[in-house]
This record gives sequence, structure tokens and C-alpha cells, in this order.
Amino acid sequence: MADDNSRTGTRYADAEALAYAARVHATHDAALERAFEAPGDNDMPAIQVGPSEGKLLHVLLALAGAQRVVEVGTLAGYSAIWMARALPPGGRLWTIEHDPKHAEVARGCIDAAGLGEVVEVVEADGPDGLRRVEPNGPFDAVFVDADKGRYDVYGRWASEHLRPGGLLIGDNAFFFGRLLDDEDPSAAAMRRFHEAMARDFRSVCVPTPDGLAVGIKR
Ligand code: MG
Repeated sequence: MADDNSRTGTRYADAEALAYAARVHATHDAALERAFEAPGDNDMPAIQVGPSEGKLLHVLLALAGAQRVVEVGTLAGYSAIWMARALPPGGRLWTIEHDPKHAEVARGCIDAAGLGEVVEVVEADGPDGLRRVEPNGPFDAVFVDADKGRYDVYGRWASEHLRPGGLLIGDNAFFFGRLLDDEDPSAAAMRRFHEAMARDFRSVCVPTPDGLAVGIKR
């Protein structure tokens, strides 16, 4: 029901309720916990998705029956583990990471999760990495969680390399609160990502804390 509060975006989930929901629905085993804590333990930015967003990626991929998936922006492999666990036997995830140290930490976390044969960490800058994984397409899902100034480029690539009915998912779709900043070129890139997605996909921006854009390719 759309009451005044849902129209204005009032949030009822405080930190404790969010933690409760994550504990109940998005429980960490040792492998997920290791990947989740890895940024803090390895002097990396702790900017990965939260447990509920990770589980949402898992559920979306399972719903879509995704088998071939690309992620742009690996960090420590936390979201990659959630997604890889949604794939059927024989499924593959290619995840692109430009920072060699992050890629090494991610490989450790992914191997510890028993997913070394399922997930390939492609060490490359985003566009170069996408060119490298391209021959494995068309893909069932693409998850973008990388440099915000090139979201439009990544979205265009996804549009060209997803099968019809494939999923495009973009994290940080509210760009840390700066989505509507007219002065920031990265905000403009993020808005182009949204607008192209709305045109070429059946799409929605799920109001997670920083927005998760989700679209089904037409
Ligand atoms: Mg993110």
C-alpha cells in the first residue's frame, strides 16, 4: 500500500532491524565471513555489498536460472561467493578486478569457499577485462559494482552481451547520495546508466541503502 511514508521513502529498518534480517536471511558461513571481513583485515576499502544485498544477488541469479555471469569489481570476492553459490553445476562466474592485491585476496577467499573451479578472477581494468571475457558470452547476468564514472560503458557492454531475458544489476545506483549532482561527471555517467537501462531493459531501482538497479534485457 502506498501511504505517505512509502512515497517519501521513510525507512523503518534501523541498524538493529537490518542486522536481525541479515542474520535470519543472509547467514554467513566461515567462507562468507572471511570474504566479508577481508577488506578490513587487508587494508582494503570496506565497500562491498552488505549481507542482505549479497543474498539478494544470490536470489536474483537463482530466479533467472543464471549459468554464465560476469561481475565488474571483485574487491575481496564477497559478492562473487554469494553469486557463484546460486549457479547450477557447470555454471561459471568471471569477475574483473583491476587491483592485483585485491585480486589475490579474492582468489584466497574464493578458493576457501571451494569455488576455485567456478569463479575466475580476471585481473584487468574494467573495459579490458570485459574484452577478455567476451568470447564466453552471451551471458545470463552482469553485476556492475566498479568505478562509477564508467557505469554507462559497463551498462552498454552488458546490453550488447546479455541474452534476451538476461539480468543487469548495478550497485551504488544512488551514487552515495550524489546521483543528481549536476557538476559531477561520474553522477552523469550513473544517470546515463539508469536511463539506458530503463530504455533497453524492464528495470527497477531497488531502494537498498545505496540503490540496486535491476533490469531484464528486452
Ligand atoms: Mg558497491
